[in-house]
Amino acid sequence: MTPSWPPTPADVARLLEALALAEARSPHYRAHFAAARVRAAELRDYDAVRARVPRTAKADLVAAQRGLPPFGDFLAALPWELAAVHVSPGPLYIPRLADEPGGTPVLLEAIGAMGVRRGEVAHVTLSYHVMPGGLRLHRAFEEYGCVVLNGGTGASALQLQVARDLGATVYAGTPSFLGRLADQARELGWDPRRDLHYRVGFSTAEALPPALRAELEAAFALELFDHCGEALIGPVAGECRAHAGMHLHARDLFLEFLDLETGEPVRPGGTGELVATHLGRRALPLVRYAPGDVYRLREGACTCGNPAPRVDFVGQIGTIRKVRGVLVHAAQVAGVVAEFPELGRFQVVIEHPAGERYERATLRAGLVREAPPDLAARLARRLKETVLIDVGIVLVAEVDIPEDAGPPRYAGAMLDRRVH
Ligand SMILES: [Zn+2]
Repeated sequence: MTPSWPPTPADVARLLEALALAEARSPHYRAHFAAARVRAAELRDYDAVRARVPRTAKADLVAAQRGLPPFGDFLAALPWELAAVHVSPGPLYIPRLADEPGGTPVLLEAIGAMGVRRGEVAHVTLSYHVMPGGLRLHRAFEEYGCVVLNGGTGASALQLQVARDLGATVYAGTPSFLGRLADQARELGWDPRRDLHYRVGFSTAEALPPALRAELEAAFALELFDHCGEALIGPVAGECRAHAGMHLHARDLFLEFLDLETGEPVRPGGTGELVATHLGRRALPLVRYAPGDVYRLREGACTCGNPAPRVDFVGQIGTIRKVRGVLVHAAQVAGVVAEFPELGRFQVVIEHPAGERYERATLRAGLVREAPPDLAARLARRLKETVLIDVGIVLVAEVDIPEDAGPPRYAGAMLDRRVH
């Protein structure tokens, strides 16, 4: 079944089934539903679910697991039914049943969309330690029919030798590690385009701004595909060869995209917060889980023919602010700042000075090298053109911008000094 938004009746039927299962098997959700005075059996359609079933925040799961280690009261299975436990930062413990798909169907779809052929050698460089990323990608490439190298995150010189000797044509991992492989290859006196054979790159777990994408594609002569997901719900969407947004690939999740202010479903062209519910039987089901990730839905059909909706990852809720009626996203500002090699981290400060009619946004841009005299004016013009806001520019040394303002999360990049 192709993922869809708004949901089809078949999607809603699977959602209602999942809610009934969570209520029946998970003590947490039994209490969660009872506290909201709702029973899964009473829910008839999606509007009723949205209106009556409260969201689950990551903090709820953290509190439950701290209070009742290791899994909290979320568990919907008996301990001996578990096949594996994954760890997500926190640490949070995510148990899995043997027959849970665990993100593999989504990844198989995403790998196919990149034009990977069976028998190709895939080099996986996400961490294989503790966190599930490396193992998850590894399993998916293996099931797809690739020959998989379990590279992991260390020993880049050894990894390059193995990738070269085995003729790896597919890279899978973060863009920053791919950049490190390029540097390492040059240090070894290699030409990454001639001595290595990557033609396709699965980029994940970090932002892939256009300048970085262009640099890496040129370094290896490969085609990069951006992917996104979330620690607890796994992979969500990935690019096809049209590179015009990421198709939703998730078949075992019910995904909602809701307006940040009204909570109403957003239409294509709009920007909304992701809310996800696990479908099917799960060891630890999540119902209306809201990780705070914001996506923009693309309009129209993709030229590749895949009818699955396409999204762009915008950022975390804390990194988005409305300034004079315009939604401003840290990741969008980062895309513009990245056009200027003199600049590093930045911070947008939003104020509404007493007695003034309008609020005011100032971009504090951190310099990593000497700036030409027209830099501030050019940056202001580009921001006006692309983000549609008028900002004052203040150039400072990069050390004056907090580290947490930087990628991939941009948590400290928006500083809201307005009084609410
Ligand atoms: Zn497409």
